[in-house]
Amino acid sequence: MEKREQLYEGKAKILYATDDPDLLVQYFKDDATAFNRKKTGTIENKGEFNCRISTVIFRLLEREGVRTHWVKTLNDREMLVKRLTILPVEVVVRNRLAGSLAKRLGLEEGRELSRPLVEFYYKCDELDDPLMTDDQVDVLGFATGAEVAHMRTVALKVDEVLSRFFLERGIILVDYKIEFGRHKDEVLLGDEISPDSCRLWEVGTLRKLDKDRFRRDMGSVEEAYAEVLSRVET
Ligand code: UDP
Repeated sequence: MEKREQLYEGKAKILYATDDPDLLVQYFKDDATAFNRKKTGTIENKGEFNCRISTVIFRLLEREGVRTHWVKTLNDREMLVKRLTILPVEVVVRNRLAGSLAKRLGLEEGRELSRPLVEFYYKCDELDDPLMTDDQVDVLGFATGAEVAHMRTVALKVDEVLSRFFLERGIILVDYKIEFGRHKDEVLLGDEISPDSCRLWEVGTLRKLDKDRFRRDMGSVEEAYAEVLSRVET
């Protein structure tokens, strides 16, 4: 496999073409953004932390029957992935009340939800990723009805697998965002799953081990990511 030209640079990752039209190299950067780029910065070694954490998670999910874009990890910052046509929705799963949902409803963060909540957001920076109903995603043609149903099913399967996995390592999976894309005749889980895209709270202390430390200027951001890496790699 030969790495070729850069195709896309996002907030936290860069995608490169390869000599195989079906495969891309996904490179993880240290750049951090929050609030739709209103806050920017660097989290030292974040690229490496997130690449390694995502590797553990994608490998686990594949073993549990979840189809993902991950093919193999090439080094500490790069993975070989299947080329996807990303669906323009972010799928959020919540196990506890936190973040934008708590804020919008004026409720305190932390309450356990009676069952996992699946939400869809339209990927659109100019509109700050507005919430959409499942029906809107389908009727407006952002994904087919079957794809919406598939994303919901996979999101809940991911939740079951990852909630257990993190809990065994003393971490509560509060909520997370995943993305999906079309590859040939399949819809695969794409992007990354890391402390950038998940809320992770330490069991007992409820210490935040995720990007909220950066968003909310709480300090010890690198240490939190390193802590997650060391727990998931054991
Ligand atoms: N999330 C993300 N990217 C986004 C929006 C949310 O990775 O563009 C993640 C976020 O880290 C959290 C979950 O999705 O784990 C739910 O986020 P929420 O809707 O509460 O929004 P936030 O307040 O984090 O922007």
